[in-house]
This record gives sequence, C-alpha cells and structure tokens, in this order.
Amino acid sequence: MTEARTALIEGLMDRFPDIPREAVVKEDLLRGGIAFDAAALSDNQDGDVKPKSYFIFSFDHGTLPELGQAALRRPPEEIVLTGGPYGLRRTVVSVRVNPASPYRVAPGAEGRLGLYLDGERIADVGLPPMPEYYRHTLASGKSVMEVAPTIQWGYLIYLTVFRVCQYFGAKQECQYCDINHNWHQHKAAGRPYTGVKPVEEVLEALEIIDRHDVAGTSTAYTLTGGAITSRVGGLDEADFYGRYAQAIEERFPGRWIGKVVAQALPKEAVRRFHDHGIRIYHPNYEVWDRRLFELYCPGKERHVGRDEWHRRILDSAEVFGPRNVIPNFVAGVEMAEPFGFTRAGEAVDSTVEGLRFFMSHGITPRFTTWCPEPTTPLGKANPHGAPLEYHVRLLEAYRATMREFGLSSPPGYGPAGPGNAVFSVSSFMDTLPAQPQEAKK
Ligand code: SF4
Repeated sequence: MTEARTALIEGLMDRFPDIPREAVVKEDLLRGGIAFDAAALSDNQDGDVKPKSYFIFSFDHGTLPELGQAALRRPPEEIVLTGGPYGLRRTVVSVRVNPASPYRVAPGAEGRLGLYLDGERIADVGLPPMPEYYRHTLASGKSVMEVAPTIQWGYLIYLTVFRVCQYFGAKQECQYCDINHNWHQHKAAGRPYTGVKPVEEVLEALEIIDRHDVAGTSTAYTLTGGAITSRVGGLDEADFYGRYAQAIEERFPGRWIGKVVAQALPKEAVRRFHDHGIRIYHPNYEVWDRRLFELYCPGKERHVGRDEWHRRILDSAEVFGPRNVIPNFVAGVEMAEPFGFTRAGEAVDSTVEGLRFFMSHGITPRFTTWCPEPTTPLGKANPHGAPLEYHVRLLEAYRATMREFGLSSPPGYGPAGPGNAVFSVSSFMDTLPAQPQEAKK
C-alpha cells in the first residue's frame, strides 16, 4: 500500500516530463505534509536551526496537541532538498507537519538527514541555519521570529500584523482558512502570539534584521493579516495596513520591496496603499469558479461579492500597474469534496478561465498549494487535499497561459526556475523559466 505513493509520483514524472521532478515532489509534500524524526526538529529559539514561525496559518495537518514532539521542539521553517535517485536540484519547501505522512525527514545510517518516501531515501535534506537576527530580542523581550519572521530562505519578511480575521465563524470565514483557530491554539499553548503588532515593535524588529542581514538576503516584506470589515484601532483596512508601510518606508526608504496582502478594496483605498509606500498588491481571489467562491468565501461574497471583487482587482492595476497586482488563489480547493470538481481536468479548466481573465489584462495571478488544515471545514472533509495530478496539471497550464500572454514570473518572488526558486508554498516558481534577477525598486 505505502509504495503506492512512490508509484504515484514516478507515474506523474513519466507522464509530465516537461514539469520539473522537483515540482512533483514539492507539490506532494505541500499538499500532504511531512513527518519529522526527533533529530530533524529545532531547539526552538535556542538551537542552530531556524524554527517554524507559524507566520499566518498553521499549515499543519494536525493541531499542536496532535503533533507530539514537533509541538515542543518546533520543526524547521523550511527544508531544502537535493540529489537522490531523481537527481533533484536545490528545492526549498515550506514545512507542513503531518505525523502520518509517508514522507519522513530522518537521519540516515551515516547521520546525514534525508527525505524518505515509503522507507526509501529520495533526497538529501538541508535545514535552514538560525539567522543571526533571530538571536536578538526586542526591548520588550519579544523575539524577532514572533514580530518579523522571515520565510523563503530569508528572502521575505512576513509581517502578519493582525493575527485574526473579522470574518469570524462558520458563516463568514473562508472554508479553508485556520487563521482564527491558529491564533487560539498558540494562545492556548502559552506561546507569545501578538494579536495586533505595534508599529514600533515592527520597526524595532526590522532594525535588528537590517543590522544583521549583512548579506542582504531579505529583499521584500509582506504586510498582511485578517480582513478588516469595520475598524482596528480606529483605522480601516487601507490605513491600518498602510500605516506600517508608511513607517517602514520613512525609516528604511527603499530597503525592501513593500507588498500587502489585503482584500480587493475600492480604488480610492487602493491608492492609499500606494501612497503609503506599498509597491505590490495581492488582492487574493481565492478560487475562480463562481459557485465555489460563494460557498467557500461567504464573508467576502456577502461584503463585497465576486464580480465586484474582480472589478476592483482590474481597477487596482491602474494604481499599481498590472505587473504589480498579483492576486493569489488557493490551488486545490477547486477539488474539495463535497462541492468541488471531481475531475482534475475540469478543475484546471475552470482555473485557467480565471488565469485568462486576469492575464489578458496583464495581471499575473499566483497560487499557494492548499494545506487541508483539520480545523477548517474543507480540511476536515478532505484530509488528503487535492489529487497530485491536479497540482501537476495546474503547473503545466499556468506556465502555458503565461507564455500565451507573453508574461514572465511575477516581481517580488525571488529567482525563478528549478534549482533557483526560493518561493516555498507552491512550486510555480520552480516550474517557470529562469529570469534575470529583479531590481529592488
Ligand atoms: S479573509 Fe478568509 S482567507 Fe483571509 S484571513 Fe479571513 S478567513 Fe482567512
């Protein structure tokens, strides 16, 4: 039975020879998670391995109490795969823990860590070193990892400044999202997990990163968090998130590329993001199919509505320029039971319709691979996520649609191409052709 997973990935590698093998393995790890031997865990903030920061969602296949040792000694933020029987080029993968996964990171006989599938070693595993800036704390005693974690092998500073979402409860929350549950579980575990991060603390953490990131690896920051449908601290969504950008750009002008992930807001509010210094806007459209959007994103459907959401995305291209509007969708939820497509081809066709809609306007969507967290309605009903074949066909269709519209990899994602990519929560960057390195501004 267990060898079935090896047969699955090798079968897809054979059927889709133009998709890098790295991407097939990475998608399977992202959709299904990884088990960790104790030797591959971090020692939280005290060791030499960079720990998983839980930067927004849990991205795990179990709740903290279900993760055993991995809840006490955090897993690494990411792993990097190389070599093995498939000859993998360097592949950075975000860590999603699943103690029941057929993939396991463990030391081999000679002590070197490897990735094992169905008991066979399929890659060497490297762990991210603890960055120097994580070894320093803020005046309040908070860690840099808590206030300003970095992901994508240090490329992106991930600033979830509002750790909950005002779409709350079954009738409003997106059906695949565990942001609110993740906040609760960290609080229940007694971990520091700041609901609203003070601007001064964010600046202080960035100061530490700026001082110690002497190689200049950190290149962009993302400001994000839950949707704001009323106000937080007296501010609406554009000013709440925008004031962080304003403060960052005043203190560190042009040091990083400023990005925001927020709702699709009216053009006047989008302009305020831009005025505050944001340069890349991610108004995520989540899933293209109309019926699925209405079912999966009830809060967004009720407050904004799908058609208006899409109109606002197009409008925002007039403020940011189409290259700098990069809306995300959650790859895989199209196939979630009981409402999703049952055939991979239909799900990919629907998603391509959305890609064509945006790409024909010069806007390049991107995607993250769905992690079926068990505390979400869709995760509970689909613990294994979407079929791997869907993910592989999507990569193929995405690349072909980009080519058709003459688009290249979106800005703010680091290098593209197998062996180069650092974007860790999807393999779309591993699948696109390598491009010349981007400038910061
Ligand atoms: S808008 Fe939806 S996806 Fe975004 S944080 Fe709220 S519930 Fe989650």
